[in-house]
Amino acid sequence: MQNSSFIAGDWVSGGSEVENRNPSDVSDLVGSYSQAGANQVETALEAACAAQAIWQNSGLEQRYNALMAIGQEMMTRSAELGELLSREEGKPRAEGVGEVYRAGQFFTYYAAETLRQIGDTADSVRDNIEIDIRREPVGVVAIISPWNFPIATASWKIAPALAFGNAVIWKPANITPASAVAFAEIIERQNLPKGLFNLVLGSGSAIGRQLVESTKVDAISFTGSVPVGKTIAAAAQNFTKVQLEMGSKNALAVMDDCDLDLAVSCALNGAFGSTGQKCTASSRLIVHEAVHDAFVEKLVAGAKAFKVGHALEEGTQIGPVVSAQQLKGNLEYVDLGKSEGAELLCGGDRLDRPTEGYFMAPAVFSNTSNAMRINREEMFAPIACVIKVGSYEEALHCVNDTAFGLTSGIVTRSLSRATHFRRNARTGCVMVNLPTAGTDYHVPFGGRGDSSYGPREQGGYAREFYTTVKTAYIASGDPA
Ligand code: NDP
Repeated sequence: MQNSSFIAGDWVSGGSEVENRNPSDVSDLVGSYSQAGANQVETALEAACAAQAIWQNSGLEQRYNALMAIGQEMMTRSAELGELLSREEGKPRAEGVGEVYRAGQFFTYYAAETLRQIGDTADSVRDNIEIDIRREPVGVVAIISPWNFPIATASWKIAPALAFGNAVIWKPANITPASAVAFAEIIERQNLPKGLFNLVLGSGSAIGRQLVESTKVDAISFTGSVPVGKTIAAAAQNFTKVQLEMGSKNALAVMDDCDLDLAVSCALNGAFGSTGQKCTASSRLIVHEAVHDAFVEKLVAGAKAFKVGHALEEGTQIGPVVSAQQLKGNLEYVDLGKSEGAELLCGGDRLDRPTEGYFMAPAVFSNTSNAMRINREEMFAPIACVIKVGSYEEALHCVNDTAFGLTSGIVTRSLSRATHFRRNARTGCVMVNLPTAGTDYHVPFGGRGDSSYGPREQGGYAREFYTTVKTAYIASGDPA
């Protein structure tokens, strides 16, 4: 496997190297990855511009074949690549394998989308003129992706970018380069113009910023934190198209008429899946007072029963958090919660395991208010905060009382409440009797408020971001 960037059709080493260590076992060095230099990023941008002009005019079957082959290889190799992903990111093996398989599905889905690029025609308001309206690629797309879904997030951006005729410069998170390189090796083997797809390894503050400032980039799709998202929005100064998927503070409302076991299972899955490191995680659990005590008792029992351990060990349900820095931040949030007056019912401490890793016991806070910082800031941690409410109306108000707006959920047996919630929750995705996390690949994904900016990702809606509309007027009569 390569340990470098893929630029203009070649694997090229850069200057310094960064070590990639397994968060389940820091003695396990996954690899050392060389960082692309500014001149190499520039080469990638120039190659991308040239290749995009070729790709734009290629027959759709070439695109279909490339995307289908990438998707099928990812699905076929999901066990092997999923293990690599879990080794460097720390999610349990089954989640790593599932993520790679899902990434493959994004490619096979967008392979089919290449054949659905059908425009419109219109009559003119003037005589003897016809109008043709079509979508064209936006050009060179920079993709800046995070570590928490290192392959899936990149796939749901790279697949539509290529399907709709664009070139790609991909900057993955520097903490998960191994998955990125393995993924790029699959793309490299396809029949694509040299330079159409580029992988640039390096930090966000260096390479990411260079991409944001470059006038050769036509569009940027980013997933990550709100503060970085704000700096990326500055690319609009160059009139670069920007799509931002950022954090959230998702809430699950548990109503007095709920199926309690279902509510607990939705909460455990949504709050602690992927060690809580999901933008769709249910970090706020808003619970009706009538079921509060019973819900909390079962929730705490479930949180304590989780097997936390090495991501690749049989039976592990929760892996380590991704890094020492993330663990430090999580433990600080636990201290903050206590200092704000929340009651820590379980977990919240660092765990020792046979290997040295960043293990943390899933934490449940009760007696929290929606005004506390632990309920307002994205923690990205295995920490769930219970907020007690007295009515459905109070629950809905609390769900919407946040700067974010990615997902929300309700657990109820009432159809009218579920319908009211679905229509009044101010989030991009709403779940009824389901965890707040867990979405499909063929429908739009995104949020409101500080969670998202720009057109939606995924499904057919991705076309909006990765294309631009052209309206052509054609005189249908012979020139005089
Ligand atoms: P960041 O937002 O810092 O990183 C996301 C991506 O942006 C990475 O590829 C990063 O590169 C890159 N980046 C960082 N700085 C810049 C910059 N100035 N210009 C361009 N690109 C940049 O998230 P972190 O990984 O540091 O995670 C911090 C917090 O962000 C988490 O605790 C969580 O709250 C949130 N987050 C949310 C995600 C979501 O899905 N909603 C995903 C990931 C994080 P590099 O890492 O290589 O420096």
